[in-house]
Amino acid sequence: MGICVVGVLCAILVAVTQGVTNGPDAEATQLGQIAVILIWAEASIAILSTLYLLFGDAGVIKRTEESCYPIPSEVEQRIRALQSLDSLKNIPGPQGDIRHGSYCVRCLVWRSKDAGKVHHCNVCQRCVTGFDHHCGVFGRCIVRNNMPCFLATIGMMFAGMITAMLAVMSSTAVNPQQGGGGG
Ligand SMILES: [Zn+2]
Ligand SMILES: [Zn+2]
Repeated sequence: MGICVVGVLCAILVAVTQGVTNGPDAEATQLGQIAVILIWAEASIAILSTLYLLFGDAGVIKRTEESCYPIPSEVEQRIRALQSLDSLKNIPGPQGDIRHGSYCVRCLVWRSKDAGKVHHCNVCQRCVTGFDHHCGVFGRCIVRNNMPCFLATIGMMFAGMITAMLAVMSSTAVNPQQGGGGG
């Protein structure tokens, strides 16, 4: 969905900007040329940011030997007895141990204390560091790592709208003058 939204918006805004500046009667004004360069730059930034949001590092805590062990005894007992872990709450680590801050009983990983705000996302079913919110449009967690891309994508949407609007305005500002001069 994120790809569709960004892709369609980019296509519309680029088409509008190019359309009004390259129209049959609209002479390519300087402002129009700048608008075309701007709109392509904005579209590129938006697409690159979207790609990073979808495929880049989103702060997911990976399952490694370090993050998985030691398994807390409560969890180990339940797993050995083939019991569900659903009723268990996250288990705090030993005091003063920064690397074993708390244990997520759904991902079965230790979350470090110095990793910023750690959160288990119920949509992604993963623990992430530096959590801000889960974005429904992109279907990804927005965390400290990809926040610049998230802001850039939204920023480029507004910048693109303004650029397209300016291009439309600059072309309509040129046309009536031509008409008025002829009459
Ligand atoms: Zn988790
Ligand atoms: Zn998420």
